Amino acid sequence: MDDTITLTVSLVVLLIGLAIGKAWERYKLRDGRWIDRRKIQESPHYILGLNFLVSNQIDLAIEELTKAAGLDAPALEIHLILGNLYRERGQVSKAIQMHQNLLQRPNLTTMEQAYVLLCLGLDFKRGGFVDRSFQAFSEVTRLDPGNQYALLNLEKLHEEQQQWQEAHAIRQRLADSATDGDRPRDQSILAFLENELGLQAVRERLSQQAIRHFETALELDSQTIPALLNLGDVYMSQKNTRKAISIWEQIIRTAPERSYLAFERLERAYRTLGQPNRFAELCQQLIETNPQDWRARLSLGQHFADHERSSHALDLFFESLVHNPHALAVHQAIWRALTTLDFDPVLVRRYIELTHDAVFYLDPHVCIRCRYRSTELLWQCPQCHEWNTFVEERIAPAEDATEDTDVQKAAV
Ligand SMILES: [Zn+2]
Repeated sequence: MDDTITLTVSLVVLLIGLAIGKAWERYKLRDGRWIDRRKIQESPHYILGLNFLVSNQIDLAIEELTKAAGLDAPALEIHLILGNLYRERGQVSKAIQMHQNLLQRPNLTTMEQAYVLLCLGLDFKRGGFVDRSFQAFSEVTRLDPGNQYALLNLEKLHEEQQQWQEAHAIRQRLADSATDGDRPRDQSILAFLENELGLQAVRERLSQQAIRHFETALELDSQTIPALLNLGDVYMSQKNTRKAISIWEQIIRTAPERSYLAFERLERAYRTLGQPNRFAELCQQLIETNPQDWRARLSLGQHFADHERSSHALDLFFESLVHNPHALAVHQAIWRALTTLDFDPVLVRRYIELTHDAVFYLDPHVCIRCRYRSTELLWQCPQCHEWNTFVEERIAPAEDATEDTDVQKAAV
């Protein structure tokens, strides 16, 4: 989602640049007829339109730019922007129609064609026409092989259809042309794509190929946690428990805050080797290194509970609760342990006291502008100082969440 916004903003900025830059001049010369550009650039409609655009008031921007376009019908840039604005407002067919009309114009330069097609690709994508959007972006890369926006969009389309090999090839193209500053991010994305290719090989039961992909992912970025988890799984399925353990233990060294992702696997593997105590040692070591680690306490507690040491387990759950009172997993573990201990009143009282002191949002509300949280409905946000931005915070299933966001956007 963020990527889309960044992309849209970049595109709008790009188009504004185009509008007031060289293309403007070139267009005038090519048409060979005199249009008083100063008149348009100084026209209040054009300037107001751009201002509304910058402040994201799309309806008003459309209104002003439409008037500006009336002053200068051939102005490609204004029509391009207008089409984009219709798309942003959800009027996809209108956007498609505008951009397709532009494409029919004679004498478009290659770059102008590429930009119109890029906009058309975004229209199709927004409208859910995957194949046509794919065609448009591909055509852009044919006309302008280094076009990053088109490449990024093609990559996303491949990812959505789980075409990992194709997505990887495009990311490689982007990486090859990137500056040094972008390299770590490209490497990291390539590593995640390698990991997906590895999973695909696992599904096809091609273990050696899977291992190669996971190892490549880790060479690209040693912090690719899913590749470590999956590589260990492959060795485990080959009954190579020691190798699996050594790979999962790498997570503890390279990204201790993610160690918990390997807990279940490691506990099982240590047990397979007949060394269940190694799991307790591992958790204790993590707690020593990071006293805030509530997950290691929770897992160690669960480990004790499984070995019928409920009272010892409960101590650890209580400690875990102090560090993260919001984790329902901790409360559930406590309820189970209390059940086993027949709800010993002393322990129940201790539980209530611990939760009483914790900072909870009794009735959680959140600012939709800056995500500031509050326990009550506020009319002005203390963080971003915006008015009337608080909504009740509810955790909804992903589909509903998208709808909610749209409703919230509409409300703002
Ligand atoms: Zn706020």
